[in-house]
Amino acid sequence: MYQGVPEKQLIEIGNKFLAHPDRVGPDDLPALRRILHYHEWRYYVKNDPVISDYDYDRLYKILQRIESEHPELITPDSPTQRIGSDLSADFKTARHLTPFLSLENSYHPDDLNDFDRQVRKLTGEAGPIEYIVEPKFDGSSLGLLYENNILVRGTTRGNGIEGDDITNNVKTITSLPLRAHFSAKGITKAELRGEGIIRKDNFAQLNRDREQQGLDLFANARNAAAGALRMKDPKETAARKLDCIVYQLTFAEGQNGTGVRRYFDTHGEVLHFLSDIGFLVPHDFIKTCIGIREVIAYCADAEARREAYPYEIDGLVIKVNRLDLQEKCGATAHHPRWAIAFKFKAKQAVTTLEDVQFQVGKLGAITPVGKVTPVELAGVTISSVSLHNEDFIRSKDIRIGDRVIIERAGEVIPYIVKSLPDLRDDHVRPIRFPSECPVCHTPLVKKEGEAVWRCPNYDCPEQVVQRLIHFVSKDAMDIDGMGESQVRKFYQLQWLHDFDDIYKLPYDKIRALDGFGDKSVENLRRAIEASKTNPIYRLLFGLSIPHVGLKAAKTIAAHVGHLRELQQWTIEQFTAIKDVGPIMAQSIHDFFHRPRTDRLLASFEALGVNLKQTDDDRPVVISSGPLAGRTILFTGTLQHMTRTEAQKLAEKAGAQNLSGVSKHLNILVVGEKAGSKLRKARELGTVQIIDEQEFLKLVEAGAGDKPERLR
Ligand SMILES: [Zn+2]
Repeated sequence: MYQGVPEKQLIEIGNKFLAHPDRVGPDDLPALRRILHYHEWRYYVKNDPVISDYDYDRLYKILQRIESEHPELITPDSPTQRIGSDLSADFKTARHLTPFLSLENSYHPDDLNDFDRQVRKLTGEAGPIEYIVEPKFDGSSLGLLYENNILVRGTTRGNGIEGDDITNNVKTITSLPLRAHFSAKGITKAELRGEGIIRKDNFAQLNRDREQQGLDLFANARNAAAGALRMKDPKETAARKLDCIVYQLTFAEGQNGTGVRRYFDTHGEVLHFLSDIGFLVPHDFIKTCIGIREVIAYCADAEARREAYPYEIDGLVIKVNRLDLQEKCGATAHHPRWAIAFKFKAKQAVTTLEDVQFQVGKLGAITPVGKVTPVELAGVTISSVSLHNEDFIRSKDIRIGDRVIIERAGEVIPYIVKSLPDLRDDHVRPIRFPSECPVCHTPLVKKEGEAVWRCPNYDCPEQVVQRLIHFVSKDAMDIDGMGESQVRKFYQLQWLHDFDDIYKLPYDKIRALDGFGDKSVENLRRAIEASKTNPIYRLLFGLSIPHVGLKAAKTIAAHVGHLRELQQWTIEQFTAIKDVGPIMAQSIHDFFHRPRTDRLLASFEALGVNLKQTDDDRPVVISSGPLAGRTILFTGTLQHMTRTEAQKLAEKAGAQNLSGVSKHLNILVVGEKAGSKLRKARELGTVQIIDEQEFLKLVEAGAGDKPERLR
C-alpha cells in the first residue's frame, strides 16, 4: 500500500498511461501525480524502484505536457514543482510553530547517567526509562510544515524562533514527499523536524564531478548540504542530491485537537507512522533501550560502527520514548529535558605539515604523502595524510610547514581538507614535485589527460614489491601469513623478483629468520601450496595488469579455458567479451604478448600453479533444484529467517524472486501478519500459497542436488 492505494493498482494505471500517453488528459492529473510520487518513494525512500528511469521520465513528461497546456491546474505538490526554476529563492523569514530547540551535548557515559537521573526525578518513574536512540546526522536542520497533507513550507533552523523560508529549495529533495497522508490519523496540520543531508557516496561523486569541472572541492558533506539549501536557484540545490531524514513531529492539529500526544503515545509510534506515509526516517539505525545502561552500551557500539552508516553522523540522540513522560520533563529556554545528544569523537583536527614524501604504487603512480605532527583523530593517532596528486596540492596551495586541517572519513586514509595560510610564518616552503622516481631515479612520465605522474620502469624495486604485496592479498592469490612485511623481507634477501619466486621460497632459510618458527613456516608453506589450485581469475587479478580489476579478471576468466590461450588472442577477441572495452583489451593483450609473460607462465606451469579454468571461474547457472523455473514471493514476518535469507534459499533452489503478486507468480510464502498480498493471491486463484514450514520442506527436498554449471 502507498498512502492508502494498493501499489499494484498504481503500477498498473502507470502502465496504462505509458501505453497510450496521448489519451492522458487533465482529468488524470491527480492519478498521474500520485503515481509519480509513488515511484519517487520507491526509488528514494525504499531504495527499491519498480520502474525504469526511462519510464519514470516518460510519465514525468506526460505530466509536464498536460501542466503546460493547463497551467491553472498546477498544484504545489506536483512533482514538477520540485524544481521551480522560475521562482526566486529570495528568502523571507518564517516563524516556527514550536521553538526549534537545540540539544544538550554529552561526551561521556557519566553525562548520560546524570541525564537519566534527572529524567527519573522529573517524571517520578521508579523503574527504568524506555529510550529511543537515533543517529545524530551531520547535515543541516530543517523545519517542515504540512497542511492538509501537502508540504507548504520548509525552513532553516534560524534563531530557533524563526528561520529562513527555503520552501522552493526543500521541494527539490526527492526523498521528501510533497504530499503525505497525515489525514490517515486525522491530522490536518503537522510540523516536522528533519535533516538535509547528502549520502556519503553521493558526496564522493559530487566532489569527483567538481574535480573534473575544475571547481573547488567541498570540505565535507555538511557544508555541501547547508550551502545547497541556501542556493538562490533551486536547480543548484537539486544537483547536490540531498536527502531529508525526518526525526521528530513537533506539532499536530486535527480531529482530536492540538498536540502530538492526542495522536500518538510514543515517539517510536510517530516514526513508524511517518515511515508508513512515505518519509525517510532513520529506522535502520534506531534502537529502543530499556534503561540508561543499555543506552550507554549502544552508544559505544554505534561509535565503533559509525563508518558503516551511509550518512555522516557525529553522534547519537537519546530521547524518552513515552510522550507523556516527555511532557512531564518539559524544556528549558534552550533545550528539551527529555532528550540529549551524545557526541562522537571529532574527525577533524588541526596539525602541521612537516614534510612530503613520494610513494610509488604497483603501477608506478607517484603519490605525495604528507607527514604531519602526530595528532589524535577519532581515537586514532594520525601521522600520515594523503595529498592525492600534484593538481590537488597546487589548487589548495598547501606548503610544507603549513598549519593544516585534516579529516578522516570512512576507511580512507586521512586527508588534508585545507591549509591555513593566515597562520603562515617565514619557514613555509613550497612542495617540490620530483621529476624522477624517488626509488629508481627513472625520469617520470605523465600521460595526456591523467593527473598522475608515473615511474615507467617495470623493474622499479618499489613497484615489484607493491605488485608482490598485491599478488598475495586476499582478493588475489589470498596467501595467509604473507603480507607487506614478509614480502619486503624476502625481497631484501633477494628471494623474490617476479611472481613465480613465491613458489620457490627457501623454507629452510626462512625458518632461521627472526620472527619465524617451525609452525609459522609450515603454515606459510601450506598457504602457498594451496594457492596453486586457485581459480584463474585470482591469478589474473594478482598479476597487476593495468585496467584489469577483480571484476574484469572474473569476466575474462569465465571466457578462457587456459591462460596460455590469451597469448594467441587478438584485440578483437578481447573486445568481443561484454564489459571489456578497447583500453582494457589493449592492456591485457599487450601483457600476454610480452616475452616475459611467456617465461612467467612456463614457470608457473613447471611449479604446478593452475592456469586452467576451474568451476569457480565459470558463472553459475541453475537449471535444476526443487523450485527450478518457478517464481516466488515472501510476505509477512517470517519466524526462522529474515526475508533476505529466505530469498537466497529460494534462489539456490532455482526459484526467481518476484516483488509483487501477479499472474506470473507461482508460489506465495506467507508469514505472520500477511496482508494485501495474501488477499490478492487468493483472488487470483492461481498462486500456490504455503507457509514458512512448507517452504523449508520444499527447499530441503532438493538440498542434495548440486547446481549445474554451464560453460
Ligand atoms: Zn621507479
